[in-house]
Amino acid sequence: MTHGDDPGDVQACGPEGRRLPDGFEDPLSVLDRLSRSTFRSRFHLREGDRAYARSKGRETIARHARELLEGRIGAAHPRNDGRQTPMRGHPVFIAQHATATCCRGCVAKWHHIPRGRELSGQELDHLVAVVMAWIEQELAVRP
Ligand SMILES: [Zn+2]
Repeated sequence: MTHGDDPGDVQACGPEGRRLPDGFEDPLSVLDRLSRSTFRSRFHLREGDRAYARSKGRETIARHARELLEGRIGAAHPRNDGRQTPMRGHPVFIAQHATATCCRGCVAKWHHIPRGRELSGQELDHLVAVVMAWIEQELAVRP
């Protein structure tokens, strides 16, 4: 599976969603755009991921998300960009594929943050908020 075969992108990238006062798109509005992509909506947390997320709690998972995103997509030119995010091993990894925060190509395409420069702290916070909104949604609909 590569990141290129995401036919929903063109359509789903259309009009921008709701903006928050900080200038970033409302995470729920981002999730709404992502839900129209067949490729992105294929990703779901497995039972073990959900149990892990619940046992650690929101704060810890959010901290992991921040560390994983910063380490894997934060740099101007991340190592192995496009292939750096595993398909399993941590709920945040699955969430990254589901929310197009898996690599800088997907971040540029879906979140309109250009490649080739470091992500700012605010941008990382925003992407973490999207990842956490997705994880919470998964936990809510799949008890
Ligand atoms: Zn990607």
